[in-house]
Amino acid sequence: MTTFSSEDGAPHFDPDAVHAKYLEERDKRLVEGRAAIRDLSGDTLFGKYREDPFTPYVHREPVTDDVDVAIVGAGIGGLVAGAELRKAGIGKIRLIDEAGGVGGTWYWNRYPGIMCDVESYSYIPMLEELDYVPKTRYAYGAEIRECLEMLAEKFDLVADGLFHTRVTSTVWNEELARWVIETDHGDMIRARYVVEAVGILNLMKLPDIPGMELFKGKSFHTARWDYEYTGGDASGHLDKLADKVVAVMGTGASAVQCIPHLAESAKHLYVFQRTPAPVGYRGNRPTTPEFAEELRGHPGWQRERMYNFHDVLRGAAEKDLVDDAWTNYWPRTRARRRPPDMSMEQYMYEMEREDFAVMEEHRAWIDEFVTDPEVAEILKPYYRYVCKRPCFLDEYYPTFSRPNVTVVNCPAGIERITETGAICNGQEYEFDLLVYATGFEAEVTPFPRRAAHDIIGRGGLSVAEAWAEGPATLHGIMTRGFPNMFIMPSPGQQSVITVNFTLVNSEAAEHIGHTVKLLDERGVRIFDVSQEAQDAYVDFILSRYVAAFEMMEACTPSRVNFEGNPRAANPRSGSWGGGMGDLHGWIRMLAAWREQGEFEGLELDQPAVTRERV
Ligand code: NAP
Repeated sequence: MTTFSSEDGAPHFDPDAVHAKYLEERDKRLVEGRAAIRDLSGDTLFGKYREDPFTPYVHREPVTDDVDVAIVGAGIGGLVAGAELRKAGIGKIRLIDEAGGVGGTWYWNRYPGIMCDVESYSYIPMLEELDYVPKTRYAYGAEIRECLEMLAEKFDLVADGLFHTRVTSTVWNEELARWVIETDHGDMIRARYVVEAVGILNLMKLPDIPGMELFKGKSFHTARWDYEYTGGDASGHLDKLADKVVAVMGTGASAVQCIPHLAESAKHLYVFQRTPAPVGYRGNRPTTPEFAEELRGHPGWQRERMYNFHDVLRGAAEKDLVDDAWTNYWPRTRARRRPPDMSMEQYMYEMEREDFAVMEEHRAWIDEFVTDPEVAEILKPYYRYVCKRPCFLDEYYPTFSRPNVTVVNCPAGIERITETGAICNGQEYEFDLLVYATGFEAEVTPFPRRAAHDIIGRGGLSVAEAWAEGPATLHGIMTRGFPNMFIMPSPGQQSVITVNFTLVNSEAAEHIGHTVKLLDERGVRIFDVSQEAQDAYVDFILSRYVAAFEMMEACTPSRVNFEGNPRAANPRSGSWGGGMGDLHGWIRMLAAWREQGEFEGLELDQPAVTRERV
């Protein structure tokens, strides 16, 4: 029975009781230092956690050349941009990435159980171009990585790719009308255009906990899984853990997926939980040949499905093609329509009541699967569904009824790491392996930090300086003072947000491909955003920005509310159209801009020097 059940066992929404419980739970977690992390870029002790365990590093000679487009980042954003540029007829493209191959997040994240919890048919990019239908409704990491490798091969992006290569600076040279890109291999690439596709959630996050450096056992982050130590592979069977006590720190999306596998293989597993996640049902299943045929028989099916998923989540679709836990829970809690005769107050009440019902469904589910009521209670999330990114996995909760699994309730975080374990609530837990499932710096992390290299535009101004007050863009993709540069969209960067970010990447990539083609056809040498157009675009973003401070302040701290400080949000980091943005409006606006063909808002330098003559 859950905390809020009435005498007959049915969930009962008593707003005062719910508020009191949610605030009590929030306050346990709103502790000083909860967001402290180590800056791995300059960390001599923990910087090595970023090293690539998957592909051996090999020495190569520096490359110096001149290309049409350099793409920084070979994840989904960089790959779809590269593919669309190829379709637009662009010849020489250099893809550059710190990883040993393509895939971005799907290169680095190979932890056991890794999968994408957005349905595969909508998530994996360009499936129709690849003539591929994923094997299961939710794809495992290896299949996604293979698809991205296929995509890179199909559009010939690998042969000229520079991998295990970190861009150190990207500097605009006005005289050459080129970006000059330097790397940690001593490369010097001159490029007519640069696409910054550095990714979102790309900066691995290690917390800063006293004593971390003392731990004598093994430790790594989920984004650099060490299979040499654990044995097994991404499908589990971690046979080398049979005699090991393992601890996992965190219970977010990555932890939820790897915990069942760790539990199956380890002698004992401690799960150090700060905030329980709401883990909804999954219902993964193989793709039937009939379903694959149905999709293939309907050209354009993938984009239609992506749009439908987005529209259902926004409460704006008649039909639900995806029909899963995302499309069940999300619109109920975020996208209820307000009937014309309903007061705002009543509407807010109804929203909250529905959110409560969704959370009660999650809490009741825990009771169903976790036999020990005390353990079940620890795992129950007490906050609104809108406060945190939800998770989905059928195997998660049953794991906590295993005799070799202990969930350690640590709402204020781990106090200290010792030579042999960790201290929570004054008690020490000893273990051999510590897995940091502590995630990544938030998706709204400003672009200059995510890029992690100097980008110097006109007049020697860096993008970090230009964006000191927040993003300033046209379309969320181009920015004044940084000519011939495209920045792939990201949340907090004046484009739009959707749960399936592959869709936004795909739209932006098509826009970039078309734009470069048009610019080339017109013989444009340099484009830059006009001050006027950028100001107008930023003003539009600001005009639509609506803060929901009170609701977010009542939330448990998370990256959604800036770790309990929603007022830290910068209105310039808003989306096109307000809130999460008007995706369809943004797409129509980009299409109209291209169709008009006048490069409205750009300053063009199109005299004589074309690429053949340089
Ligand atoms: P995450 O959701 O940010 O979770 C990090 C976990 O570590 C949280 O449970 C957090 O606790 C805990 N933590 C952080 N610092 C801590 C500290 N100092 N002491 C104790 N616990 C600490 O990270 P993630 O699971 O890697 O996921 C990141 C994002 O990647 C997801 O939200 C999602 O967007 C994406 N992702 C997607 C999928 C997918 O299937 N599509 C799969 C994996 C990841 P608190 O909750 O208290 O902060």
